[in-house]
Amino acid sequence: MKANASGFAFKILREDKESMARLGVIKTNRGYIDTPYFVPVATLASVRALGSDDLEALGVQCALANTYHLHLKPGDELIKKLGGLHSFMSFDRPIFSDSGGFQAFSLGCGREDSINKIGGVFPHRRTTEENEENVGKKENLTKITDQGISFKSVYDGTWQFLDARTSMLIQSNLGSDIIMAFDECTSPLSGYDYTKEAMKRTHEWAGISLKHHDVSQAIYGIIQGGWFEDLRAEGTEFIKSLPFDGMAIGGSLGNCKKDMHQVLDWVVPQLDDRPRHLLGIGQVDDIFECVERGIDTFDCVFPTRVARRGGIFISPESGGRPDNKFRINIKSAQFKDDGTPIDPNCRCPTCRRYIRAYLRHLYLANELSYFRLASVHNLHFMQRLMHEIRESINNGTFMGLKEKWLG
Ligand SMILES: [Zn+2]
Repeated sequence: MKANASGFAFKILREDKESMARLGVIKTNRGYIDTPYFVPVATLASVRALGSDDLEALGVQCALANTYHLHLKPGDELIKKLGGLHSFMSFDRPIFSDSGGFQAFSLGCGREDSINKIGGVFPHRRTTEENEENVGKKENLTKITDQGISFKSVYDGTWQFLDARTSMLIQSNLGSDIIMAFDECTSPLSGYDYTKEAMKRTHEWAGISLKHHDVSQAIYGIIQGGWFEDLRAEGTEFIKSLPFDGMAIGGSLGNCKKDMHQVLDWVVPQLDDRPRHLLGIGQVDDIFECVERGIDTFDCVFPTRVARRGGIFISPESGGRPDNKFRINIKSAQFKDDGTPIDPNCRCPTCRRYIRAYLRHLYLANELSYFRLASVHNLHFMQRLMHEIRESINNGTFMGLKEKWLG
């Protein structure tokens, strides 16, 4: 594998014959990432409820940190002074960072329309009653111009400004291995003209990001264009023409999962051999559908967030199906005296040691240990799922595995 100045390289090891799925490996100076891979999100330099020692024990190969949040809290300059993100959080494996542009969406327009990638990528359909009461309509905390994004900090309410150069500087201070170009993420509710205008800004900012980024870091360009075929085609062509190390697909993916598949079907066939990252996606069915369409890496807070709310993943062998979203709700009374592990087929530290009744008790008693034990299991589940997917691509049985999981 021939690495570039940042030590980054990507090699495709095998391509599936029945789909666009591919098996590969990303090389960085801090280690390898086997793809397809699910990247856990460490928003504030921590995968919530877990320590970096937990991540290592689970065999997690990399994590993604949020530029916006770390810039505001505790501050990227402080992190730099303390030796960078790896040293700060004591995690010596590859770290991705996002550009901060997404927060303009989730905390600005997205906030206004009750849309965010965390709760769900697709717009929440308000009931008439909700519309009348205007529930969920919060203040838009973002102002976007061609120069950059002004936003009100969610921490102290002060107005802040982020542009492509600042985003590159912050990500350099963080010292992540793989960074993202600065972009504007539009909402599924943005119209054609606005999406087009925003994409032009993203392209302008892509050039600035490339010019000013820290060359010791690999950089991915972000393809925007919303749910409009010609804009996605233009966005893909443009970002692909630039010397980015990888391609990320961001922005609005339409109004439902079918729309998202459509966006990928427009974008991915146009791409080349560089690695492809899909921002903010991480449900089991989405992983299969997107791997099938040629995505190499994903990031999402979903598995650990749902764990904290009582949602614990189970495999098909233990009753996991698309209709129960491959999870049980540990709060349920049926687990009150259940003496079995969460998933008898799971070999994670939680399942090897604890029973469902105990986890339910911890949850109901608000015991903090619940958050760690449940997050350990859900992250292990994702690790194992991705491992199975990689094995199946290697053996030429990916579509069979998808059938086994999704039916
Ligand atoms: Zn487990």
